[in-house]
This record gives sequence, C-alpha cells and structure tokens, in this order.
Amino acid sequence: MKLHTKFLIILFPLVVVPLLLNSYITRMHFNAMLQNQVAQQNHVLAEQMSWNIRSAQNRGQDLLNELVSYPAMVEALQSAGDNPAQLQNQLDLFASQLPALEYAAIQSDAGTLLAETRTEMKLPAELFQASGQGRLFQHQQHLYLAQQAMQPEANLSSATYSVRIVTGQPQLEEYINHTRRSSNVLLLLQSHHTILSQDTSLQHLLSQTRVSDNDSLIWNSNRYLVNRTQLSPSLQMIALAPTVEMDSASENLYNMLSYVAICAGFISLLILHRSIASLVSNPLQRFQSLAHNISNGNFSPIRIFERKDEVGELSTSLETMRQHLQDTSRHIEELAYFDPLTGLPNKVSFIDTIQELIKRSQVAGHQVAILFFDLDNFKHVNDGLGHEIGDELLMQVSHRLKECIRSHDVLAPGNHPALQELDSLVARLGGDEFTLVLSKINSPEEAAKVASRILQQFAKPFCLLDSDVFVSASIGISMYPKDGRTPEDLLKNADTAMYAAKSSGKNNARFYDSKMNKPVLERIELEASMRSGLDNDEFILYYQPKVPLFGATRFEFETLMRWNHKDRGMISPGVFIPLAEDSGYIQQLGDWAIEQTCRQIEYWNQKGYRHVSVSTNLSPVQLNYGNPVQTIRNALESFDIEPAQLEIEITESGLMQNEAHAVELLNEIKALGVRIALDDFGTGYSSLAYLIKFPIDTLKIDRTFIKDIESQAESLKVLESIIALAKSLDLQVVAEGVETREQLELLQKRECDLIQGFYFARPSEPDIAMQFFEGHFLKKHQRAESGVSERKAAS
Ligand code: C2E
Ligand code: CA
Ligand code: CA
Repeated sequence: MKLHTKFLIILFPLVVVPLLLNSYITRMHFNAMLQNQVAQQNHVLAEQMSWNIRSAQNRGQDLLNELVSYPAMVEALQSAGDNPAQLQNQLDLFASQLPALEYAAIQSDAGTLLAETRTEMKLPAELFQASGQGRLFQHQQHLYLAQQAMQPEANLSSATYSVRIVTGQPQLEEYINHTRRSSNVLLLLQSHHTILSQDTSLQHLLSQTRVSDNDSLIWNSNRYLVNRTQLSPSLQMIALAPTVEMDSASENLYNMLSYVAICAGFISLLILHRSIASLVSNPLQRFQSLAHNISNGNFSPIRIFERKDEVGELSTSLETMRQHLQDTSRHIEELAYFDPLTGLPNKVSFIDTIQELIKRSQVAGHQVAILFFDLDNFKHVNDGLGHEIGDELLMQVSHRLKECIRSHDVLAPGNHPALQELDSLVARLGGDEFTLVLSKINSPEEAAKVASRILQQFAKPFCLLDSDVFVSASIGISMYPKDGRTPEDLLKNADTAMYAAKSSGKNNARFYDSKMNKPVLERIELEASMRSGLDNDEFILYYQPKVPLFGATRFEFETLMRWNHKDRGMISPGVFIPLAEDSGYIQQLGDWAIEQTCRQIEYWNQKGYRHVSVSTNLSPVQLNYGNPVQTIRNALESFDIEPAQLEIEITESGLMQNEAHAVELLNEIKALGVRIALDDFGTGYSSLAYLIKFPIDTLKIDRTFIKDIESQAESLKVLESIIALAKSLDLQVVAEGVETREQLELLQKRECDLIQGFYFARPSEPDIAMQFFEGHFLKKHQRAESGVSERKAAS
C-alpha cells in the first residue's frame, strides 16, 4: 500500500470522527436546551394553571359565602326545621340564578341533608372532605370543583350546618383546550391519584404507566415530553409537550452538522492529500527515482527542493551523495579502465579496443599491429632511484609514446566509451609494459616504421632528478591476422617477440615468429633457476690473459663469468647476464665477481706472483643503480691486495645512461686507487668526449674492429688513430679478440700495449690461465736469451 493511502487511512478517521462526535454532542446539547425550554414553558403553563385553579377556588369560596349570607337563604335556614321545603325552594332559586353552580347541598351537623339541588352526578362524600380549597374532579369529560363550607357564619346562631357546592370549570377546560390548540401541549391534572383528562386513552395510559418528570412517552404514535408540576399537595399538573418538532429540529441540526462534518472531512482530506503529495509523496517519489537512477548507473542530477525543512535538507544531502557517488563511480571507472598513474587505458580497455579494431579491420580488409613495449632495465631505475622516480619515468615514457600516436589527442581523460572510436591506442599493462595497437595497416613495414619512430624517441635522454638519464626500450610486434586472431593471442605473441628483442641485445624491435616461443620458455625457466644457481655456487669466474707486448713481466687477466648449470651445463654470459640484469640478480652476481676477483689476486700474491692485475666487468645496471663503490671498498679491505691490482671494465652504454652519476661514481672508485677500463670501445658512440670526461686508465678496443684490420684498410686507419689518441691521453690500450698472428703483428707495430684473444689463450680456470702466462713468459725469456746468444755469436 502506498504511503499516501496509508496517510489518508490514518488521517480520515482523525478528521471525520471528531467532526461527527462534535455534531452528536451539539445535538445532545440542543436537545437538552429544547427540553429545558419546554420545561420553562410548562412552568409558565403551570403558573397559569395554578392561577386559574386558585381563581376557581376563590370564585367557589365567594359563591359559598354568598350562599350562606344570602338573606332569604339565611331566613330559610333558620326556619329549616319548621319549613324544609322553603329551604329547598330557596336553594333552587339561588342555584337557578347562578349557572356556574352545578350542585349545592346543605346538611345539618347531625348529618341530615336539609336541601339539595338536583344533579345526575353521584358525588362521593370524600369530594367535600378537603378543606376550603376544594377538590377538582371530572365527570363526563368536564371539570368540576367541589367545595364545602364547614363553619357557618356567626349569625346562624343556633344551629350549625355545612354547605357543599360543585362548580363547573369551563374556564379551566377552555384554558387546557386553548393551550392544546395553540401550542399542542396537552395539559392534564392529577388530583390525588386520579388523572383528569378528556382523552380516556391518555388517562388510561398515564394511570397504567409510572411516568416521572422529564420522561418521554408515546401516545397515539407521537412522542411527548412529560413535565410534572406540583400545584398543591394533592394536585399535580402534567404537561405533555409533543417532541415532533423538537425531534425534527434536532434531526435537521444533526443532519446539517453531519453534512458539514463530512464536507469538512472531505475538504480537509483533499487539502491533506495535496499537502502530503507536495510535502512528502512527491519528494519521496523523486528521491525514489533518483535512487533508481543511481542504482542503474545514471547519475544525472535531481532538481533540489529549495525548502527549509527536512525534505530540503534531505534533498541537499542526497544531491551531495549523488555528486559523491558520481565522482566515485567515475573514479572507479577510471580505475577499471585506466591506469591511475599515466592516465592511459589499461589492459581491460586495451583488449576491448583490439577486439573492436579487429572487427572493423575484418570488414575493411586491413591488418592490425600490436606493439609490446618494455623499458630496458626499468627495474633498476625503480630499485636504485626509488619508486617516485620510477613513476616519474613512466609518466614521461607514456607522454613520449602518446606523441608517437596522435589519436590520443582526441581522447578525454577517463572517457572509456570513446576508446572504441580510435584507430590506434597506447595502453599501460602494468609496470614498464606498454602496448600499442595500430589499425588500418596495409603491411608490417608500417608497424616497423612506428616501432623505429618510438626507438628514436627513446634515444633522447629523460630528465630525472635534474640529470639526463638514457633509458632504452625493446619492442615486440605481432600482426593480425597472421600472428593470432584473438586479442589475447596477439598480446601474448607480441610479448614473446619483445622478449626476443631483449635477448638480442635490447634497444630494438622484433616481429613475432612462431619459432620464438621456445627461447622465451627457456628464458623463463633459466631466470627461475638463477636463485638456486646462486645458492649452489653454480657461477664461476674464468680468467682470460691480457698479454703485455712491451715492458716487464706482468700477469694481467680479465674475469669472464660462466654459469655451470646443473642441468644444462656451461652457459655463456651472453645468455644469462641480460637475464640477471632484468631480474635484478646482477647486483648479487656483480658483487660476488668483485669479491672473487680480489680473493684470486690475493691468492696469486701469496703464491709469489708479482705484478698481477685483474679486470672485472661491471654491468651498466650495477653502475647506474647499484652501490659498486661500497662493494669494491669492502673487497679491498677484506683481501690484502693493492687497489691498482683491480681494474673495473665499464661500457660506453653504461656511462651514457646517467652521465653525472657515472662521473661521480667512477671518481670515487678511482679515488680508492682502482683502475678503470672503457670496454668495447668502437661499438657504441666511441665518444672521444668520454675519454676526457671520465677518469679512464685503459681503453679496450672491441673485437669487431680487430676482425677487419687485416682486410679493411679503413679499419686499420681508425685503429691507428684510436691508439694514437689513447697514447696522447696516456691511456693503456688493450686489443680484444685477437685471433691471428697477423692481427697480433699489426697491433704490435702500432704499439698496442696488451693483447687479449684466442690467439694467446681462451678464458679458463685461474690456474690454467696462470699456467699459460708461465709458459708464455718462459718461452719469451728463452727466445730473448737465444736472441742474445745469437747476436753475441754474430758479433
Ligand atoms: P666482454 O667483456 O667484451 O668479454 C670479452 C668476450 O670476448 C668474452 O666473451 C670472451 O670469451 C670473448 N673473446 C675473447 N677473446 C676472443 C677471441 O679471440 N675471439 C672471440 N670470438 N671471442 C673472444 P664471453 O666470456 O662470452 O663474455 C661475453 C660478455 O659477457 C662479456 O663481453 C661481458 O660483456 C659479459 N660478461 C662476462 N662476464 C661478466 C661478468 O662477470 N660481469 C658482467 N657484467 N658481464 C660479464
Ligand atoms: Ca670486458
Ligand atoms: Ca669487451
């Protein structure tokens, strides 16, 4: 049942019942008032009646007096004993002269009737027994008054006698009839116990039933109100006032009041109905529809009730709540579909969008490209520089990616439905993984162009903590429909291609190829087993001699790490170092390598080898995001070696990532007395500026250079100028990857200081590496000795 109806059901009796009650009480009062009025009127009638009766009695008394004082009568009385006939005659004469006198009798005190007028009335003696007041009685529908004079006049000296008279009471009758005619009030008299009335049925009714004052009584189908008034001890007046008019007046009044009550009830209900509607029901209905809208996700605002009551307050609170819910829901939608950090769409939105683009491409016959983008070494930015800097980098990255794809310009932040309209999109899947989808593509080359544009964007440094930081990225690309038909397959394959790009040296892009799946799985397995590899000492250091071409006997080596995997045997660092860099294990491995190198140097020192020095490789990750200075300092303190016996090899790419930081760090290492070598020189930027800016002692020329020096005159020329430059900067020069005697001789002629390569020795266990040197120097010594004796013999 509606609230409105309930209100009306409750309020209706509250309004109507009091009104009806009021009319009922009013009617009661009205009735009482009317009764009162009737009683008063009867009182007046009683007064009148009483007066009439008294005057009748007086008249009777006068008549008695007249009778007994009438001279002829007095005479006749005096001679009554002698002449009774005269008394009779005299009485008859008297009676004939007075028509009001119905009956008269004179009696001696002995009780002898002396004279009497004739009458048909039988008059019982008790009628006259009452004193002078007399007694009213009824005979044949008429009223009479019977009176007696007990004491005769004094002048009736000798005898005593009594005189009785009965007078008719037509005035009294007339008065009663007149009253009946004029006001319908029935007046009756009750003398002693006799009801005097012309209506025998009424007389009968009243004498049968005991009706008290103010009772009502039904006679002749009419109701009468009864009033009794005591006129004298033996006489009562009964007034019967018909209630017909009174009843109908009160009935009318009651009907009118009830009508007014019902009308008032209906009018107040109408007003209540309107008021409840405007005050309660309508606002509630509006609030209900608001709640309904909100539960259906529709947050359109409601019109506020500008009222200074609870509804107004509730309305304001609801509006605040609605706004809050709208904001929250928008926020939830943003969280559900957008990445909170960069504001880019998230994986859910991205998959939806690919789905949509695939559908459209099916119709248009286009291809769709998914680019899976991952920063190289992001983990180390996060771990090394802190999450805030990591987040800052991700925001800059997202900005650059958006620049590569213009369609984001039309996308309002947080507008999920609009994503479906785009032709291309950048999303963030999580961490440093971003994805791009390109539709309307006619060939993979178009996707490749976008990928190379992105890589170019990342060749520029990022500004983090007020310094330039280089962060490269790897991209994997999958094409619809060639590489998959569902968004999930396409994403998975682009991810696989991205891993392949990372494995092949990072900072590049690769298309997906079904053969890639295996290496990716291997890579995941390998990364998983690295922890146990570390715990089980599966990592070892090999040593490769760096053979000095000039000067005194020196034992110089480079350490090269190997992983003697329990299942897969010896694994090359080219495979596991990038993995260790990605997973973060590189910090632990790198620290271990430094410590192990120092331990080996100390061992050789104790064995009595003089001039031992060993270089060890420092990953760019360690350099940029680790704490190598502390590790080196600790190792130097732990092992009793000269700091200059240790050399740290770093690559150009490692220096480039955050130059300011690298300069600071290398200066600290240098300050410890440890030497620094620039590795793989000639492969990267080969920036001469670095040679001056960084505290470098050794330049290691990359083996790709050495490879060509025999065949390409150009390479040789470059080599010559690098060596000359190094010499001029007072740097020691090491040639890597020397495999042939020709290469050795060319380098020897250009006064390269040290030679590292398979020509002399492969990386091996430390003892074997040292054995090589022992053999090498022994042979050299012998050759020198034989050279001296030959020269001596010749001279
Ligand atoms: P790298 O520092 O340039 O090391 C020299 C690489 O050239 C070594 O490969 C070595 O075996 C190889 N090599 C030496 N002479 C010749 C030669 O005559 N011909 C040819 N073809 N190769 C020669 P390896 O041991 O496979 O190491 C590969 C790379 O792994 C290293 O390049 C270095 O960047 C990295 N690496 C090795 N050990 C460590 C380590 O302990 N820490 C770090 N961070 N990186 C390491
Ligand atoms: Ca090296
Ligand atoms: Ca090298």
